[in-house]
Amino acid sequence: MTDFRVGFGYDSHRFAPDRPLVIGGVVIPYELGLAAHSDGDVLIHAVCDALLGAAGLKDIGTYFPDTDNTWKNADSTVLLAKVVDLISDKGWKVNNLDCTLILEKPKMKPHVDSIIARLSALLRVDAERVAVKAKTNEKMGFTGAGEGIAATAAVSIVR
Ligand code: MG
Repeated sequence: MTDFRVGFGYDSHRFAPDRPLVIGGVVIPYELGLAAHSDGDVLIHAVCDALLGAAGLKDIGTYFPDTDNTWKNADSTVLLAKVVDLISDKGWKVNNLDCTLILEKPKMKPHVDSIIARLSALLRVDAERVAVKAKTNEKMGFTGAGEGIAATAAVSIVR
């Protein structure tokens, strides 16, 4: 009998000057980055929370608190690798990931395949098990006003 779980994650970060924009472990050329204690990789943070939630664990801040200088400007792919280790220790394997970025700018289409390649390697699954979409918020709300980026992630895991 296969044990099967789903998890959902959400994150948002505000744009800030003089920082690289890192989304899904890929540096995106843009005039603004995202403010955060870590590198601000909003997509990876949503994916981490989805995985942790699926495995019945606590949220990302529990494992990587922003009061801990170890994670200052941290490469979020390192956090995701640690989360994958955490759930692997409990016998879980990623089945698939489906995520959505919500932002007005920059256009993500040219970067989606690189992000999928990066995420699938980190999650140790084939690229066809990872979906990354991006959409605008039709100029509504904080993402619509271009104040920041939001990301959602749904995962399924099996053991
Ligand atoms: Mg975050």
